[in-house]
Amino acid sequence: MNRPTCNLCRSHAAAPLDIGEPAAKVGYNVICEICGLIFHYPAMSAEEMKKFYVDDYSGNYSASETIGRDMARGRIAFLQQQIDISKVETALEIGCAKGEFLSELNIAGVPAEGVEPSQAMAGLGSNTYGVKITGSVYDDFPLRPGYYDLMSMFHVLEHVSDPLSMLQRIKKELKPDGYLFLEVPTIAECQLAIVFKAIHPTTFVAETLTAMLVEAEFEVLHSAENGYHLRVLAKPASLPATPIYPAADVVKTRVYTYLAERRRVVEGILGKMQCLIHKGTGAIYGAGLNTLDLDLVFPLKQLKLDAVFDSDTRKHGNTILGLPIQDPAALQDWNGEYVIISSYAFQAEIVRQLEYLKARGVELITLYEWNGHE
Ligand SMILES: [Zn+2]
Repeated sequence: MNRPTCNLCRSHAAAPLDIGEPAAKVGYNVICEICGLIFHYPAMSAEEMKKFYVDDYSGNYSASETIGRDMARGRIAFLQQQIDISKVETALEIGCAKGEFLSELNIAGVPAEGVEPSQAMAGLGSNTYGVKITGSVYDDFPLRPGYYDLMSMFHVLEHVSDPLSMLQRIKKELKPDGYLFLEVPTIAECQLAIVFKAIHPTTFVAETLTAMLVEAEFEVLHSAENGYHLRVLAKPASLPATPIYPAADVVKTRVYTYLAERRRVVEGILGKMQCLIHKGTGAIYGAGLNTLDLDLVFPLKQLKLDAVFDSDTRKHGNTILGLPIQDPAALQDWNGEYVIISSYAFQAEIVRQLEYLKARGVELITLYEWNGHE
């Protein structure tokens, strides 16, 4: 094949990286032998990408809204630990979706606006939260050099065809003492959703994201994996520096370890779900992304589920996968045979809370062998 130009080091030394999944699902991944960046080559056409966006993002509205707010609050809490947000006067979120993060920033007293490629999403967000969202791609949004105190983007950089150029533009638009706050998915903890996707032209690890930020003249202040999210806080560097690249073999080994672990996790979960098909009524504990991911791997319509329980009162009265989200207190009078605990991070804690159901013969189904807590 023709060797592509690497989006990080601009060399022509990328080789195919076999993910073991169909290209229609994960794209054609290559890894740069010089800098370890994983990216798609050939890239998917705009038409193909569009199809995936429609399929991937037409999820349950009320569920995604409540999850969006949860995540936004977590991000604001992190930001408040790192910087004095009361000093932020100009903030832009790129790819803000319905603007939950912007809305939470506004609530925290920070004026903020967003730019969102989906006109429908932008309109919905403006109407729902009263936040300022421009329906546009960032490339067409007016350039404001040295204007912003804070720029943020969550799960955006892995979707763009030239992430380095995007970071270079962001650097231009930030004030010298401004901040960039971003998250991308990464090959860290294994959950049900695979990190390699047809709509992710780039898959980052911490080292390649840091190297790309340094290349774009940023200084990384904080970089940490939180579940499969890689969260970074950076600021414009006072002096340009030379990026440090990870060894491609080290990144490759991590990818193969991740894939083997994920296969094991998925097979274990499928085995458990198969056993439930012939049982009576069941329920799920956890009205979040883990439950939506579970449904993708094992369509939950195959089970006789009648409710989803979640301790977050803001979710009660909404639905997820067509099932009503209820207060866990309602489990007292619930007559089903089993409860599937879909959470990854809080599995052990939820098992402890629901332990009392076992006395009634209710089976608690956990998905992960790992029993930790974030
Ligand atoms: Zn490279």
